[in-house]
Amino acid sequence: MRKRRKRRRLLLSVLLIAALSLLFLKAFIPSGETVPSDNFFAGHAAPAYDPSLKHPPAITDSVDGDRWEQSKLPEYKHLITSREIAAGDTLTAIFDNYGIDKTVLHHILSADEPILALDVLRPGNRLTFTFDHGTNQLICMELFIHPGSRIRYNRVDETSFDYQEITIPGEWKQELLTGEINGNFYVSALKSGLTDQETGNVTELFRDHIRFSSDIRPGDRFQVIRSRQCVEGEFTGQSRIEGIRIFRGSRIHTAFLFDDGNYYDKKGNSLARAFRRFPMVGNYSVSSHFSKARRNPITRRIAPHYGVDFAMPTGTPILSAGDGVVTRIRNHPFAGKYIEIQHGSQYTTRYLHLSRILVRQGQTVERGQRIALSGNTGRSTGPHLHFELHVRGRPVNPLTADIPMASAVPDERRADFNRLVGELTAMMELPQKVAFHRNNDGGN
Ligand SMILES: [Zn+2]
Repeated sequence: MRKRRKRRRLLLSVLLIAALSLLFLKAFIPSGETVPSDNFFAGHAAPAYDPSLKHPPAITDSVDGDRWEQSKLPEYKHLITSREIAAGDTLTAIFDNYGIDKTVLHHILSADEPILALDVLRPGNRLTFTFDHGTNQLICMELFIHPGSRIRYNRVDETSFDYQEITIPGEWKQELLTGEINGNFYVSALKSGLTDQETGNVTELFRDHIRFSSDIRPGDRFQVIRSRQCVEGEFTGQSRIEGIRIFRGSRIHTAFLFDDGNYYDKKGNSLARAFRRFPMVGNYSVSSHFSKARRNPITRRIAPHYGVDFAMPTGTPILSAGDGVVTRIRNHPFAGKYIEIQHGSQYTTRYLHLSRILVRQGQTVERGQRIALSGNTGRSTGPHLHFELHVRGRPVNPLTADIPMASAVPDERRADFNRLVGELTAMMELPQKVAFHRNNDGGN
């Protein structure tokens, strides 16, 4: 008896559940509409890509900050994904993450050899990868550096890429920064709005004229005209100091950036220390000249040669071309062991294919200091030094470029220079800044 009642109760519950389910379904599924199973994820926030693609799971697992989008052009349905560089990111890890073959990275690094732009990925830079929709092959990688500068690596054929620099000049906006030095120049300069690096450049510029640690007295003042690059209203992070006046007691120290890339005082005398045109002792023959389009002796491809090659036996001492700070020490598959040195705000030098490096990153070096021994590392046909000089980020021929020779503005450019000094000085003396100082002093 008990058993039967139990069974009946069970049957009733099952019926009740079935009836309720039917009611539920009727309420929530509009009649006459079916949900096709192959379109189950339609409207779902899944990545908009073709699921038949055989990308490794790492890609569909969308790393933080990744975006998937399909090209709007119907005839080129490329797959584009983009990733912002975070601290600690390496190219190898990023390529691994996207499942891109190591040989592809190798081909891109080969294309990057003339500019070595991929050796300095910084947080905030962005890499965008474009894959062919059909073959799944990487056809383009773009490095976004800032709104005014991008580099695109385009596939040429199965084994090579080329590069394309996209620069937007934008506009440079001048501004005046002023301050009184109370205590130390560094602190006062930062307070006025100068960055760490800009402050370093100012002290570097006057290093032969002012000992900032002991020569400055309370009440000394400074005026700086800084220019910052803007592209479409967005600040690119690029800036330059165009004029400086430091009022030290009864003396005024001045520096003005002329269009030849050098700083001069108001009388037109160069502030930069002399530069070496040859970063070694003795004469070595030039085995390959600076060229915008040279046939690479190994790859046979036409690519720029942004330096000068000096044939020399491995182990030849290499000297810093000028005073500066070591900003890069790398071991590149094609450039080999190399050093980059920043000389003030305008100049950079690079020394490639070294056998031994004798300095550390961040180290201050002097003109003529021994920094390395030459070698034959990386992609090289024989022992030589590849030497590069960059002015404001652009490679120039070190054998012919105007380099700071510790001289003065040439006579024929004197009128232009005087006009520039006049304009910048007038800007420094704008009345609103006088008001600014008055307010600072507490009025009246
Ligand atoms: Zn070279």
